[in-house]
Amino acid sequence: MKYASEFRQGKLAGGVVASISRASRRPVTFMEFCGSHTVAIFRYGIRQVLPKTVTTVSGPGCPICVTANSDLDKAIALALIPGVILASFGDVLRVPGSKTSLQSVRAEGADIRVVYSAMDAVRIAQQNPDQRVVLLGIGFETTAPTIAAAILQAEEMGLRNFTVLSWHKLCPPAIKALLDAGDVALDGLICPGHVSAITGAAAWEFIAQDYGIPCVVSGFEPLDILHCIDMLVAQAENGQAKVEIAYRRGVQQNGNVTAQHLMETVFESCDADWRGMGTIPHSGLRLREDYARFDADREFTIVPGPTREPQGCICGDVLRAVKTPVDCPLFGKSCTPETPVGACMVSSEGSCFTYYLYGGKNG
Ligand code: SF4
Repeated sequence: MKYASEFRQGKLAGGVVASISRASRRPVTFMEFCGSHTVAIFRYGIRQVLPKTVTTVSGPGCPICVTANSDLDKAIALALIPGVILASFGDVLRVPGSKTSLQSVRAEGADIRVVYSAMDAVRIAQQNPDQRVVLLGIGFETTAPTIAAAILQAEEMGLRNFTVLSWHKLCPPAIKALLDAGDVALDGLICPGHVSAITGAAAWEFIAQDYGIPCVVSGFEPLDILHCIDMLVAQAENGQAKVEIAYRRGVQQNGNVTAQHLMETVFESCDADWRGMGTIPHSGLRLREDYARFDADREFTIVPGPTREPQGCICGDVLRAVKTPVDCPLFGKSCTPETPVGACMVSSEGSCFTYYLYGGKNG
């Protein structure tokens, strides 16, 4: 705990805020891509202590939020196939698809099990040889290596009844798409700490070089984030655009090479659908041909029917930072964490959930 408390010291934080206030002269907008950063920024009231010249906006970095309804519908259709056990991380169950949710079909009898790691799903497959176990592979670069490791383990064990429905997404192509769309003008990017631990800070070089936008990788404690913003302000004021790391204890320039190798062994990039952003080239991961027998997309014929978006929900605009949750007419009325209308109100990293949890007052 001491390790965390060192990064929460109010006196030190006050010093960094003073440094930001001294350095910041022109108005700037920084985006935190990652949902965990959004949560930390709200939890610690960071927006309130920043000078008026510094604005932070939340990006699409919540894997559950960006999962397209068409993918959710596919998972629901899979869960309804007799003999299938669907293994999923918990939050996904409550996300409404076009007609229903995984949670609802589970209540109606579908065999859906909540797992806490990919290896849990491998164990379920081992214990249920007469059933077909499908793991929902959801997450960014942070979780893809663990799913890859589970697939390799299943191969070693000779499991024939284990597959993965890969919804994995890659962050750099999504940021590129966001910048190319030009919906939001950014003066800096608070780069995701967990993703960067795998990819390395080098993954963001193209943003600094091609778009002239300062990038700083941040950790998740208040001092990490303030330090990151201080570094971004310094770059913006000095007319620089480079990639820096404000999270040295977690992130290296070239990342975790072992995890990258695991990912590259099992997966290859593919186009992927993102809620609110459409199809983004090379922003997803699918299983390589060598691992096709572990690929639920190839092993099952799934026809989920037409996709419908929840009426009135503006999750897509929220994810693109074009609007904030409080702009949504359903926010806090028909849409709450107990009765979520859209994905951003379900996930503990979703912007709508975070705004709701902190009363919107820290926004
Ligand atoms: Fe969608 Fe609910 Fe957020 Fe509105 S408040 S954008 S309905 S998730």
